[in-house]
Amino acid sequence: MIIAIDGPAASGKGTLARRLAAHFGLPHLDTGLLYRATALALIDAGRRLDDEAAAEAAARGLALTDFDESRLRGREMGEAASLVAVMPRVRAALVEAQRAFAARPDGAVLDGRDIGTVIAPQADVKIFVTASPETRAQRRALELARRGEPVDYAAILDDVRKRDARDAGRAVAPLLAAADAATLDTSALDIEGAFAAALAIVERARKP
Ligand code: C5P
Repeated sequence: MIIAIDGPAASGKGTLARRLAAHFGLPHLDTGLLYRATALALIDAGRRLDDEAAAEAAARGLALTDFDESRLRGREMGEAASLVAVMPRVRAALVEAQRAFAARPDGAVLDGRDIGTVIAPQADVKIFVTASPETRAQRRALELARRGEPVDYAAILDDVRKRDARDAGRAVAPLLAAADAATLDTSALDIEGAFAAALAIVERARKP
């Protein structure tokens, strides 16, 4: 079974993807890490984030494992990732590895922005996870506080809105719910409530 989970930044899709993967015993790929790692490789090499040739080479050189998540999860890296993610050659360089992951024998859970539309349009279950920008900014603020990073709620809300606009507005593989995706708004749900709702969507989709 392939489960495709898409949605905007801090919608809760990562947590849901991890929980669903554990529940069904499936491998999980957080595809945002690929874009974040591409951006980090550029920064470490002293290249500009809009250097498409360097970004494509960095994307092709990534291994899907061994990500240094402590460096990748920060706020700046999310922003940097969304800048490299607009470049068609970067997206093309990352497609194959994501499709190969989705094609694992028992299936997989992938989360990102274009899983149900581009990477795995054949997925058995597609969930588009959303929440209001304010809710997502609050969640991101809590997450950063837990990681010991400085928290500026207004700046985070501004980031969330900017990133939504960039992800939804780009020409290639924009953030978009697949026509056959079930939408799950987690604004009024805690983690357990959101997981129960996601599980219900999967069970419904599996019924013949
Ligand atoms: O999900 P996460 O916040 O880690 O993603 C970081 C950025 O990577 C997103 O804002 C988006 O621009 C890009 N991304 C993408 N396609 C994906 C996953 C992430 O364009 N499948």
